[in-house]
Amino acid sequence: MDRIDFDDEMDDVYIANTGVDLTATEAVVSEFLRTLGEKPEREGLKNTPRRVARMYAELLSGYHTDPTKIVNGAVFNINYDEMVIVRDIEFYSLCEHHLLPFLGRAHVAYMPAGKVIGLSKIPRIVDLFARRLQVQERMTRQIANELQELLHPKGVAVVVEALHLCMMMRGVRKHDARMTTSAMHGAFRANLATRQEFLDNIGRGAEPLRI
Ligand code: ZN
Repeated sequence: MDRIDFDDEMDDVYIANTGVDLTATEAVVSEFLRTLGEKPEREGLKNTPRRVARMYAELLSGYHTDPTKIVNGAVFNINYDEMVIVRDIEFYSLCEHHLLPFLGRAHVAYMPAGKVIGLSKIPRIVDLFARRLQVQERMTRQIANELQELLHPKGVAVVVEALHLCMMMRGVRKHDARMTTSAMHGAFRANLATRQEFLDNIGRGAEPLRI
């Protein structure tokens, strides 16, 4: 088989771990191209099914990633009870209704109750759920629930702002329509001041979302 540069970072181990059957996916993509009236064997499309199969294996790798492996010992017992906020976490996901991307930023906060998580792990948790076929509301809730499970904090809050290509490229063609979803647990739900502190923080100095 000829060597092709797929311009991705997937080695054989990575691909095996995604659990995606690349050969089967390739065949389906090729057939899909044919149903669109294309000729999958023409020069420009020759490697497209392979490329697309690899791409989806990467974009949908969140199904097969084990959250405990992501966290990998980075939960620490620390006596700290102030709000921890990680804002502007960039993410890319695929809407399950159109298989088109939605992308934007997630803002995550929690009030520790004896346990904190390494800061770099929070974007990885966001990615874990973004790399699936999603609806934004569910993704938001899953991120919050995962942190709840891991840390049992006094509260968790997640706000996700996203642009949906299925709204921008087709249908109503609303280029600036961004969607905001949130999930608030514990102190963020019960205590208005806590919730407001978080919302003020993520609102401060934020640039409008654009592509
Ligand atoms: Zn959609």
